[in-house]
Amino acid sequence: MDERGAFARAHSRLTAAPELVPWPTDRLWAEARAALGRSLVRNAARLGPARRHAEAIAHGLDRLADLFDELTPATCAVCPDPCCGHAKVWLDFKDLLFLHLIREPLPPHQLRRNLHEPCRYLGREGCRLTRRSRPWICTWYICPLQRQVLERDIPGGGFQADELRTRIKSLRAAMESAFLDAVGHGAALS
Ligand code: SF4
Ligand code: SF4
Repeated sequence: MDERGAFARAHSRLTAAPELVPWPTDRLWAEARAALGRSLVRNAARLGPARRHAEAIAHGLDRLADLFDELTPATCAVCPDPCCGHAKVWLDFKDLLFLHLIREPLPPHQLRRNLHEPCRYLGREGCRLTRRSRPWICTWYICPLQRQVLERDIPGGGFQADELRTRIKSLRAAMESAFLDAVGHGAALS
């Protein structure tokens, strides 16, 4: 599969049929990773801006991870109905791009093969992926209990979390845009 075809296919899976899990099989997962990897190698000289955005995202995620670590004992660790058991989430194109740009190991499989199975990375002790390796939506989501504990027990916690989430969301858009500018496929993926 050529680079343009791989990206067009990846993108159409995200936009034309958003109800479908992108790259659900190991073959498609490997194809998407390989296509992205080849593109990064070919365009390495022009990827500075995208990499800088990705590094800023990683920094923000690490700060959010510290906040969530403070929340966990009073929230997820005692949750009677963990959201991961029924959340319909997966790694999307920006997640993959981010992980490639910061050279973080990717999960070996997409989170799920379809909308009926649970996330394969949900373990007995919670999520088995690092914070950086999870889909952004998994960190973006703050449930009502977490919100309550953030506001009540961590001074400035709610404000800090919201500021970081807004910043990361904007950085993800900027990262993707810088990547598309660098590879020259903006028209194909816009
Ligand atoms: S984020 Fe909220 S709903 Fe999800 S597992 Fe933690 S406490 Fe439960
Ligand atoms: S990747 Fe982790 S946080 Fe996200 S749904 Fe799966 S188990 Fe939950």
